[in-house]
Amino acid sequence: MPAMTAASAPATRTARCGCGALSATAKGEPAIVAMCSCTACQRRTGAPFGTLAWWDAADVAVTGTAQRYARVSERGRTIAYEFCPTCGSALVFRGEHLPGKVGIAIGGFADPAFPAPTVAVWDTTRHHWLDAIAAIPRLAEQRS
Ligand SMILES: [Zn+2]
Ligand SMILES: [Zn+2]
Repeated sequence: MPAMTAASAPATRTARCGCGALSATAKGEPAIVAMCSCTACQRRTGAPFGTLAWWDAADVAVTGTAQRYARVSERGRTIAYEFCPTCGSALVFRGEHLPGKVGIAIGGFADPAFPAPTVAVWDTTRHHWLDAIAAIPRLAEQRS
């Protein structure tokens, strides 16, 4: 892994939804970066797993109009997320399992240099091919 430099690890990062109406700015480095393969994250994202970075709530500022959806986890704890009512991107998360913290969807930063997850949860429903992802043929871009 290459060494991180000050230039590639900014003190402030801003994530936004697909249309730009909802954004979240976080100060400092995230306390937790997690990928989650639970079926709720799979259905929410349409992807095999969700990825969230968590900061202290005091270090996150949310701007724009959001709609809120809350669900109760398998452990009986509420997790709520805020999504853009125009484009549907889920951006900001608050959960009883991490009191005082705010999660931001990593994809919202659109930053390929964002810190990698430090933990992967819900291994029981992890897609089998994730262990072989490096072997999948890659294209620099898709031009179709
Ligand atoms: Zn939007
Ligand atoms: Zn999940």
